[in-house]
Amino acid sequence: MSGTVLITGCGRGLGLEFAYQYARDGWHVHACCRDLVHAEDLLALEARFPEQIDLHTLDVTKDGQIKALDRVLGDATLDVLINNAGYYGPKGVTFGNLERELWRQVLETNTLSPLMLAQALYPRVAASKHKTIAFLSSKVGSIADNGSGGGYYYRSSKTALNQAVKSLSIDLEGAGIKVVALHPGWVQTDMGGPNALITVEESVSGLREVLADLQPAQSGTFLDYQGSAIPW
Ligand code: NDP
Repeated sequence: MSGTVLITGCGRGLGLEFAYQYARDGWHVHACCRDLVHAEDLLALEARFPEQIDLHTLDVTKDGQIKALDRVLGDATLDVLINNAGYYGPKGVTFGNLERELWRQVLETNTLSPLMLAQALYPRVAASKHKTIAFLSSKVGSIADNGSGGGYYYRSSKTALNQAVKSLSIDLEGAGIKVVALHPGWVQTDMGGPNALITVEESVSGLREVLADLQPAQSGTFLDYQGSAIPW
């Protein structure tokens, strides 16, 4: 299977690995990053696969940049749209020290922005062959899984994302688009930290397999990188 994929947050971590693996396997990759000038690894990847990778500047929180991206894409269709960019927010924040503006920034990045991007680009997905929109969520957004408390900003941003993903899966069913929330595992990235359990290679290989095998009946579900369902 190959096609065209658009990925957000490709400067490092899971986004960079998604861009690499899809390009390696012959896909056309629209790799988005908010600060291309300083994205050395992504620029090096593009130099390795110049025929397959198109780079785009995209801060997902900026509506003007979403519009500009849509214009630049011309008549391109997107088989897979991967909303990967994410932000944990400041670490170690506990109840008693919550700050409205910091919380708002995490919600902007993780909840509002992926939906605004999907809203702008979904006709391109509807016109494609594979018709898939994926959202990188997190198991810590699962209410059923929350046994330790804390993590207010990040947890709530992913929980709200999950609810939006569910609605979107219903709203886009008629267009034949499959919509899924994904948990990548606990992955060795800047966000996951050095103690994380799996590599980006392992996580992204698994997630790509999940996306390649995704059936219409699985639209509106929450799956991990091994294809197992996660309770909401
Ligand atoms: P990293 O922190 O390593 O990378 C985050 C990426 O998102 C960076 O490329 C960053 O860009 C980008 N980003 C952040 N804010 C914006 C923005 N406003 N506009 C555009 N890009 C932005 O995270 P991971 O690679 O680990 O995570 C990827 C996704 O997977 C996230 O959604 C995360 O929540 C999710 N996830 C990760 C887990 C893990 O263990 N790693 C576990 C569960 C979920 P820049 O370089 O410019 O800062």
